[in-house]
Order: sequence, then structure tokens, then C-alpha cells
Amino acid sequence: MFDSNSVSYVMNTYSRFPLELASGEGSWVVASDGASYLDYTSGISVCNLGHRPQAVAEALESQLAKIWHTSNLFHIPKQEELAELLAKTAGMDRVFFANSGAEANEAALKLVKKYWNDLAEYNRTSVLTFEDSFHGRTGTTMAATAQPKIHNGFEPLTPGFVYQPFNSVESFDILNNAPLQAVMLELIQGEGGVRPADSGWVKNLVTKAQSLGIPVIVDEVQTGMGRTGTPFLFEQYGIKPDIVTVAKGLGSGLPVGAMIAKDTFAASFAQGSHGSTFGGNPLVMSAALASAETLFSTDILTNVQKVSEKIFAKLNEFQHTHSVIEDVRGAGLMIGIELTQPVKPLLADLRERNVLALPAGEKVVRVLPPLNTDLEEADFFLEKFVQSLQNLHETEDVQ
Ligand SMILES: *Cc1c(COP(=O)(O)O)cnc(C)c1O
Repeated sequence: MFDSNSVSYVMNTYSRFPLELASGEGSWVVASDGASYLDYTSGISVCNLGHRPQAVAEALESQLAKIWHTSNLFHIPKQEELAELLAKTAGMDRVFFANSGAEANEAALKLVKKYWNDLAEYNRTSVLTFEDSFHGRTGTTMAATAQPKIHNGFEPLTPGFVYQPFNSVESFDILNNAPLQAVMLELIQGEGGVRPADSGWVKNLVTKAQSLGIPVIVDEVQTGMGRTGTPFLFEQYGIKPDIVTVAKGLGSGLPVGAMIAKDTFAASFAQGSHGSTFGGNPLVMSAALASAETLFSTDILTNVQKVSEKIFAKLNEFQHTHSVIEDVRGAGLMIGIELTQPVKPLLADLRERNVLALPAGEKVVRVLPPLNTDLEEADFFLEKFVQSLQNLHETEDVQ
């Protein structure tokens, strides 16, 4: 069992909660000490159907009894089925399967490079990304991530990125002034603090970029797969990106990512252009196909909207009565609550009350319930959350 004092042979790259989750079912997990928690972290928007959803478990069990891995030297029928579902849902044409969000983004960045190189436009050397974005931790996706705290100590960074402020019209000048390979953005910056892009700004950005022939990559690794109440968040912005990446929720906990693209760009990847040993293997595809079919269903998407309305209405009420809440924002079941102070004590107090939630930066509580959570569980969360807020105020009053 977990012991915070014992020597660890695992590299010390994560700040961890003092908790080991031993089992889970639906929205609930049981820790190694026997305590139950409402898991409104969903493994960071991965377990979007809760823990061990039945449809996915059945697909996995059936595939486990057949074949697990073949390599991409062989045809994999479930890749075809899932690619069709993802492409049709996104209104696009082709899909590349990877193993994570960073890898899906790497594939997208390689694709746009190849596109311009095929056209012999070698003067196009950079991709525009935005301050406080998060696109992954590999060499290139770390460079795409415009956050100094992620870059520090890893210089020299992979070249080829320019950064602009998010939601600022200033950022448009560069579209005319620099020969860009692509524009890449999140429509709600997840790791950056659950910060939604302004709808007008996004529309202008996408229109300007596309009119100049610059492809727009939307990173939906966190916002995609139903998280915000539609299969992809870009639909709510009324835009049509050229490339979309997904990962987190796609496999319900099995590692998988996907890059979805329009044919204009997808055609630049020919045999041998890109590849992955594990990407899209039969076992992972069985989980991802069953997950995607469920996540895109009307049942799940209407549930997200229903529970979301309830949670946002209550949080907005709490904001009026609790001065510690600075802002409430997000979409669907991707919820950010910015406080006037660090969130760590509040998250610890919530754990005492059997609720798990996440930080997004220092002052933002990030709540990512499973998309099939119900109103009763939402009530449980809201009741505990307001108690924790109250406790925070009382502790402040005493000091
Ligand atoms: C989590 C995340 C990534 C990175 O995904 P990994 O699977 O950790 O590589 C990339 N982009 C966004 C928006 C994310 O939230």
C-alpha cells in the first residue's frame, strides 16, 4: 500500500495527491484505505464514461480472447470503423492513430510541415500557438506549448513556433507578416486554467488563416469526445478546422490518440511518411471504438447538457454568496472555478468530504465529471463543494 515515506524508484516528475485509488466503478473510486470518493477528475478527462464502463469492458474482453497486437503491417478492421466514425463526426476525411495527445499533435505538426514541403514552400518555417496553451510534453509539443514554466531548463527548444496572446486581436498581425505553416489552438485552454476562447476572436482567426491558405489545427485532446456537450467543441464555435486532434477520452483509459484531417492535408501523408508501432492496435481500438460510439450518442450528449446546466447554475449562485470565487467558466462538463487564492487547501478539504477534483494552475479548481454522471451525484458534489467553500471562509475568519 501507498506509503509517502518509503524510497521510490519511480522518477520524481509528479506532484501526487496522498491517495492510492485501488478500484473504481462508474463515478466512484475506492482508495486503498477503504474510503470511497466521487471521482470528478475522470483521470483528467480520460474516464469519460466513468470507471470500467460495461460496453467498453465487453469490447475489451471479447478482443482479449482474440488478438491484442499485430503491428500496422497488417489490416486492422476496427481502425477502419473508428476512423470512419471520427472522420464523419468531425466532417473530415482521414485519421491517423497514435498513443497519446502529444503524439496526435506531433502527427498534426508533421502533416502540415509535409504539406508545405510538398508544395516547395520552404520559406514557411513556423506554427503559431498561444500563450498559456498546452499541447504536450515531447520535444516538439513542449515547444508548441507557450508556457515558460514548461520550457524552463529544456533549452534549446525545438525551433519553428511563434507565440501570441490568447483572445487578443494583436495576434492577427502575424498571419500576414510571417509565412506560417499552421495555427494551432485549444478552444478551452485546459491545463492553462479552463480558459475559453472568445467566439468572435476564434471566428476571425480561423477565417483569416484559412483565407490565406494556412491550416487551422484545433487541439481537442481535452475538450473533445463529448466533454463539452457536443462530440467536438469546434462545432459550438461554428468553425471548420482543417485538422483536429483527440486523445484523453477516446479510449476510456486505454492509451490512444488520433489526428483527424481534411483530405487536402491528409493527402500529404503517403506510405512511409509517418508511423507508430502500437498506434491503433486491435486491443486499444476495441476500447476506443466502443467508447466513441457511446460518447457520441444522444443519451450521453444530452446528459452532459442537463448535468452541466445544474452545476453551472449552482456554481453561479455560490459565486454571489462566496467572495472567494472569482470566476466560473467552461462548457458542458469541463468546469473551471477560479478562486482569489490557491486551490490546494480547498481540494484537500474536498477529499476529506469524499470528493476528488483537480487544479488547473494555482488558483483554478477544475471539475471533470464522467459524462454519464447523474443529477444525484452532481448534487453530492455541489453540497460538498459549498461546505468546503464555507470551511475556507471560516478558516480565513479565524486567521
Ligand atoms: C493532455 C493534453 C495534451 C497531451 O496529452 P498526453 O496524452 O498527455 O500526451 C495535449 N493537449 C491538450 C489540450 C491536453 O489537454
